[in-house]
This record gives sequence, structure tokens and C-alpha cells, in this order.
Amino acid sequence: MAVIVQKYGGSSVADTERVMAVARRVVDTARQGHQVVVVVSAQGKTTDQLIAKAKEISKNPPKRELDMLLATGEQASIALLAMAIDSLGQPVISLTGPQGGILTDTQHTKARIRMVNGDRIREELQKGQVVIVAGFQGLTPNNDIATLGRGGSDTTAVAVAAALDADVCEIYTDVDGVYSADPRLVPAARKLKKIDYGEMLELAFQGAKVLQPRSVEVAAVYGVAIHVRSSFSYEEGTMVREVDSVEREITVTGVASDENCAKVTLAGIPSDVHTLCHIFTSLAQVGINVDMIVQAAASKGTTHLSFTVTREDLDETLSTIARIKGEEAWEVFADDNVAKVSIVGAGMMTNPGVAAKMFEALTEENIPVFVVSTSEIKVSCLVPRDRHVDAVRACHRKFELDAVK
Ligand code: ADP
Ligand code: ASP
Ligand code: MG
Repeated sequence: MAVIVQKYGGSSVADTERVMAVARRVVDTARQGHQVVVVVSAQGKTTDQLIAKAKEISKNPPKRELDMLLATGEQASIALLAMAIDSLGQPVISLTGPQGGILTDTQHTKARIRMVNGDRIREELQKGQVVIVAGFQGLTPNNDIATLGRGGSDTTAVAVAAALDADVCEIYTDVDGVYSADPRLVPAARKLKKIDYGEMLELAFQGAKVLQPRSVEVAAVYGVAIHVRSSFSYEEGTMVREVDSVEREITVTGVASDENCAKVTLAGIPSDVHTLCHIFTSLAQVGINVDMIVQAAASKGTTHLSFTVTREDLDETLSTIARIKGEEAWEVFADDNVAKVSIVGAGMMTNPGVAAKMFEALTEENIPVFVVSTSEIKVSCLVPRDRHVDAVRACHRKFELDAVK
């Protein structure tokens, strides 16, 4: 008997027919004699709709209250799925994140799971029940509900799998695995049989939303094998696990893009390290994650600084900068008509010329590059938002990712 964690995303439970299809799949697994824990997301576009509703009331709603609202999406879907499974004659119980022992920190709307107390889940499994746990939510040390950031149900599933020492964590979604690029943007993208945690983490960070980055981080730490597969077929998907370098055949594994970015430029700031430190510390203090950073000397003693943040953090970034700036004579520019395109591959570490080849691909398509950042296993370029699909396709072609077997 295995312990299996299955996570179903929003599109997999979008309507009653799909909820029933998921229920049948869960019951099949349980009837093979396995203990099954199901983590489920809110139905379809529910979370987007709840956010839009909140924004109708207030441009900047209190984050605690936003979490109260957003958590209702998953609370509805766990109950509906439990009803569907019950209607097939299978004992089942649904639990909210707090009931399921998902304990988070206090960062509302982007909380991190601190630990999973698996006692209640184990107790319910012992009774021979399927246990459904609401994704994306948990309990803070103040006994409040917090959500885990967009796509957070993936992280709930992996954290629960780690806590239960599950045999496998299956992430069921609307594509049948992890591809060399988003198959919706690149029809020639290829399904990967396996991918290393490090590469998957980087792809996820760079915008491949098939897995939430934090879920891959947790999987790597606890050695949870993730099987990403389709909820609409029985085909094998992609295994996310440790892949040793001997198994690695190619330099670039995938291309990702992220439209959720905005560029802020501070022109004419003093070029001393104290100013830099003050700016980035102040942003960090209000929980803003800065991604790409580039600095260029302007006139003597001053510099131009550009960096990127997520689009939802742009307003708070600008108000934080305005506070620091005070009466100083710098200029502040913001541009959210940008997107980041990244190539990712662990093989890059040992192969020179990868960045050059990426620039070549973009030049051939006349795509301007505003900011570049690199790590050992990725190169990212900030490009105009309306050219990002062309950029992804050009890179995918240049590195011949559709041709790799
Ligand atoms: P769910 O609702 O099941 O959590 P998501 O919409 O969060 O599903 O993630 C699945 C989507 O991720 C796919 O529909 C696909 O468009 C997108 N995606 C982006 N990059 C990739 C990739 N490299 N491989 C597969 N899917 C990707
Ligand atoms: N419902 C949440 C979202 O839309 C969490 C998830 O789907 O993983 O982001
Ligand atoms: Mg998702």
C-alpha cells in the first residue's frame, strides 16, 4: 500500500463534469488499496474573480482580509469534490488548510509554509478515508488564514507529501507534463521525460507557471519526487527529481517567459553604496522582491539604476522610492510594458557562448534587450512585452529544443 498525494489544479475541477472525473480517478486509486490525499485548487478562474471583486471595493485591500476572501475558493472546491467522491460510495473527508495542519508564517498573500502537522491527515487516513486538503492556504501563528501566493496549491501538495513521507506527489494539470517551453506559446515545444530540481526551480522562477517555484524548492529539500501529468489522460508525464550530470545531454533545457514584471529606473542617484543599500533594504522591509538589477554610470558621482519587480508590487515600490527620495533631485521612471525571457539549463555551466547565442537569436528578430541577468544555469533578458512570444520562439528555435530527443 502506497501513500499517494494527488493535486488537481483549477482547470481540472472547473465544472461539475470535471469534478466528477477527478472523483472517479481518486476513487480508482483508493480502490487499488492506496492511501490517497488529494490537494485541490479553487475551480477555474475563481481566484481571479475573487481578486477582481476585492479590487472593486478597494484598490489596496488589507492583505489579511484578501486572504479571508481568497481562501473561500479552495474551501468551496474541497467540499464539492468530497461530495462527488462520497456519491461514488468512497469514504472521504475534506479539510481546510488550517484543519489539515498547514502552518504558515504571517506574510499574508505570499505566506510560506513553516511546517505541516500531519496528525489529523494521518488519523483520517487510518479510518480508511480519502482525505482532501484545501490547497493554497494555511494557518498563521496568530490563528489567521493566510494564502501562499498564486499557484500555491502545488506547494501545499509537496509539503503534505513531505510530511507524510508519501511515495509520490502527482500534480495533475491541463498539460501532460513539463515542456521545453510553454506549449501554448510554442507549438513545437517538446515534453520532457524528466527534469532536475535545479532546472525546474529556475524555469518556475522565470515564469513557467506549471509549478509554483516554492513547491520545487520544498521538493528538493525533502527529496519528494513530483510527477507532473494531465488530469485528462493516463499518459506518463514528467518526473521532477534529482538528475545526475551523466544523464544530462543538452546545454539548454527550456525557455520560460514572465509577463508579470515591471522596470523601475532611478536616474541620477548618488553612486555610493549607502544609497543602494538604503533603497534595497527599504524595499525588502516592505516585502518587495527585486529581480533583475543593472547600474550604469551617469555623470560624475551619479548613476542610473534599473531594476525589476512584479507588476503587483509596482505601486508599493514607487511609493517606497518616493519616501526615500524626498526632495532629492533624482528622476524615477516606471515601465510595465516589459517581459522577461529566460533560457535555462544546467549544461550552461560548462559550455561558453550560450548568452551570445541567445542575443543572436533576439537580434535576428530585431528584439531589443533592456536588461540582462545571468546565473550559472540561466540567462534572462528583459524585452518589450509585445515581443516576448517572438523572443521565446526565437530562443527555442536557436537552441533547437524541438529537435532534441
Ligand atoms: P493548474 O491550474 O493545474 O495549477 P497552471 O495554469 O497553474 O495549472 O499551470 C499549467 C500551465 O502552465 C499550462 O497550461 C501551460 O500553459 C503553463 N506552462 C508554462 N510553461 C510551461 C512548461 N514549460 N511546460 C508545461 N506547461 C507550462
Ligand atoms: N487558486 C490559487 C490560484 O489561482 C492557487 C492555485 O491554483 O494553486 O493561484
Ligand atoms: Mg498552478
